[in-house]
Amino acid sequence: MSKIKMTTPLVEMDGDEMTRILWKWIKEILLEPYVELNTEYYDLGLEHREKTKDKVTFDSAEATKKYGVAVKCATITPNAARMPEYNLTEMWKSPNGTIRAILDGTVFRTPIIVKGIEPYIPTWTKPITIARHAYGDVYKNTELRVQKGSKAELVVTDKDGNETRELIHDFTNSDGIIQGLHNLDNSIAGFARACLNYGLDLKQDVWFATKDTISKKYDHRFKDIFQEIYDNEYKEKYEAAGIEYFYTLIDDAVARVIRSNGGYIWACKNYDGDVMSDMVSTAYGSLAMMTSVLVSPDGIYEYEAAHGTVQRHYYKYLKGEETSTNSVATIFAWSGALRKRGELDSTPELCEFADKLEKATIQTIEEGVMTGDLYMLSKLENKKKVDSKTFLEEINKRLEALVK
Ligand code: NAP
Ligand code: MG
Repeated sequence: MSKIKMTTPLVEMDGDEMTRILWKWIKEILLEPYVELNTEYYDLGLEHREKTKDKVTFDSAEATKKYGVAVKCATITPNAARMPEYNLTEMWKSPNGTIRAILDGTVFRTPIIVKGIEPYIPTWTKPITIARHAYGDVYKNTELRVQKGSKAELVVTDKDGNETRELIHDFTNSDGIIQGLHNLDNSIAGFARACLNYGLDLKQDVWFATKDTISKKYDHRFKDIFQEIYDNEYKEKYEAAGIEYFYTLIDDAVARVIRSNGGYIWACKNYDGDVMSDMVSTAYGSLAMMTSVLVSPDGIYEYEAAHGTVQRHYYKYLKGEETSTNSVATIFAWSGALRKRGELDSTPELCEFADKLEKATIQTIEEGVMTGDLYMLSKLENKKKVDSKTFLEEINKRLEALVK
């Protein structure tokens, strides 16, 4: 059997700890036997970030802009404990933060659904993809404590020096607190386009919700920008694709999400996305079954797993102990990236391989072979817990049969 060829390189961002080990095995066991991998490799492992003074992270993001598709392994975001562990000269910033800032993207998180692991909400038979606006609001706020007897105002000075003032509150009877928030039309528009593009990509409805009845200027601006962009740029394409853009109040959205079967993209303001993504991923079962893709407004894609480097398992691995770490989200990051590469390059055989890799992975779990995290959740009677590497070999047995 000849290997599948890739006409354009894929940007490969290697990472840290247990996921770095899984990364190598996934390539050896599940990819290289079938695909002549054509990747431009960037080592985002913390040691190499330190060696390059983090230049490698910036370079990998620039390469992603050039080639359009990247796949990323989980990476350590250094904290105080990592400074001596890796002899760091600086507490390098989160690579994901750096890459997101350069690509100006939106992150979409989607759970992988398998039989035998039932969501806590039994009606959620299809995945709910959450898109979180990653700019502004309470995450870029200014807050103050205010003493009794003070008066707080909102003051905006325009470019000619003219002031507009609004009273926030007269603190005559009590001490209190105030908070200043902002967002940018550009950023909201970029978010809206990323969500509406992704809806077309997945052929799924897009839901968006804010508290516009209470926040008549701030949240209402989000609602208006989404609607304008939808009407002017997407309405016809959505109608042709048989999908819809749906706006409602955030309270109503939450109630509808619970009653729904899933199968749509839920666009969330920054705070809603932070909170709701934790609720949705927990309800579907395991963080290790959550994929994540960063999509820029101009159609650049970076795929990864939503979880971290699984440090606790890595320390066991280093001691020579057996680990049972779930590689599914990382496998799906690769399949997502290969499929997108295939779509952009018009190489359907690469897309077909990605489909088969995902199918073999799901089949393995549904036939009862799984890692420890899923073993605890699975309702299957014939379930069997296997170690990290055996799990990949079991997937390969099924993949071989599908590819033949
Ligand atoms: P984590 O790596 O996601 O792991 C937290 C716990 O969740 C693990 O100890 C494990 O639980 C379980 N878990 C997560 N992924 C799993 C998998 N694939 N298979 C089985 N169990 C899994 O989060 P963390 O320990 O808080 O962070 C470790 C490092 O990852 C940090 O340095 C952080 O900066 C980094 N991080 C990176 C990213 C990214 O690159 N996208 C995201 C988040 C965190 P048990 O130990 O109970 O088995
Ligand atoms: Mg959160």
